[in-house]
Amino acid sequence: MKSYILSLTLLASTALAQSSSSAAAPQPSGTSSGTLAQSSPAWLSDVKPLPGNVQSYPTTTQVPTGPLSAVNLTLSGYPPGWASPPTDSPQVQAVYKAINWSLVPNSAVRTANKDGTPNMSGYDASDPDCWWSASGCTTPKHQGVEADIVNCPTAGDWGLTYDDGPLTSDGGTWAEPNLYDFLAQHNNQKAALFYIGSNVIAAPAAAQRALADGHTICVHTWSHPAMTTQSNVQVVAELYWALHAIKEVTGITPKCWRPPYGDVDDRVRAIANQMGMTTVIWDEDTNDWNMPGDGGGNLPPATVDGYFEGWIEARKNGTDNQHGHIILEHELNNATVSMAEKWLPQIQQTFRVVPYNQCMNISQPYWETNFVYPTDANPTPVAANASSSAHTSAVATSTPAVGSGAASAAGASSSSSTTSNGVSSFSLSSSVTAAFVMMAAAYFM
Ligand SMILES: [Zn+2]
Repeated sequence: MKSYILSLTLLASTALAQSSSSAAAPQPSGTSSGTLAQSSPAWLSDVKPLPGNVQSYPTTTQVPTGPLSAVNLTLSGYPPGWASPPTDSPQVQAVYKAINWSLVPNSAVRTANKDGTPNMSGYDASDPDCWWSASGCTTPKHQGVEADIVNCPTAGDWGLTYDDGPLTSDGGTWAEPNLYDFLAQHNNQKAALFYIGSNVIAAPAAAQRALADGHTICVHTWSHPAMTTQSNVQVVAELYWALHAIKEVTGITPKCWRPPYGDVDDRVRAIANQMGMTTVIWDEDTNDWNMPGDGGGNLPPATVDGYFEGWIEARKNGTDNQHGHIILEHELNNATVSMAEKWLPQIQQTFRVVPYNQCMNISQPYWETNFVYPTDANPTPVAANASSSAHTSAVATSTPAVGSGAASAAGASSSSSTTSNGVSSFSLSSSVTAAFVMMAAAYFM
């Protein structure tokens, strides 16, 4: 175990007394026979969030931007970053014991190739485990496992997502809040951010800023492995420590996660479901991670430009009129962030750019019911005692709207389970292998 001495940005105001976890009221039981959790995870209830976070979705157009100021804090008890967490810790064992393993399909734990990618040789062509890496499957084959979210349902919608953040100081001038500032300055754009736990601990100020800026924070594991190569308890550990880091740093508990490299099957989905999370994939991939950059690859940026140009052209000429999209981009390095910033203004002119939860009508992406996000069905949600200042921590004294949130939280869960239409149009396995090699190189530098 290892402690991290952190340089954490907090705004000038003094610490806020946080209602710990603001745990959701008990959800109606018996509403689902599947694996999707119906209540806030009890095994996170001992995690006390750091002070300084907003307590509700920011409803003003002025969100915090600019340099992050630093405060030294100590976070103790985390496993080493960028490594598979121990599986025998009391925390991981507590989650393991809380899971109903009779609801988790007994799919094989995949072996890993030398480069860490899952070995798909010999896998049944009928795809009995709905293994995305092998087939692109997003509609589970096992009963009770929740379907993935894949694309926005409405044509013209562009579900904006960035993986692998927050981009730590390794990113130099492109480290956060570079992208977050850019988004704020471009129509107060919101995005969904899939965070790696190890990065959250390394850049907690950026994570707090993202929440204050109104982005949707989701889980992207602790150390970014191919999840189907992880044993059941290893899957638990990867998800648990990411959830723990996000909750301690930002105070929220995501109900959404994305598997690194898209590598998920029904076994992994079911475990994530019972840990309170829906799986979110994508249907358009920029492959931006593979451009030359810190830890990147050798994909010519012009190729990525071509993807964006093609998507814009298809929308403009009417051929992209079947459904909206969820697009995979990364806050990984200078190359990916600069590419994201290059294209966002043009994408905004062609598409309606929203975080995926907005187009999916998921108003409460966290178990904490005091956060209510805009959705297409309800663009201007009324949050209880919403903080109203750009300098959020100075005024974020709202109390959780537990009473009003329970019903809608349940609604969000059920709606998200019915919205995936399973449409996908990407190339799969070939890029997965390359992706792992290049990203592993990036991460362990
Ligand atoms: Zn990733």
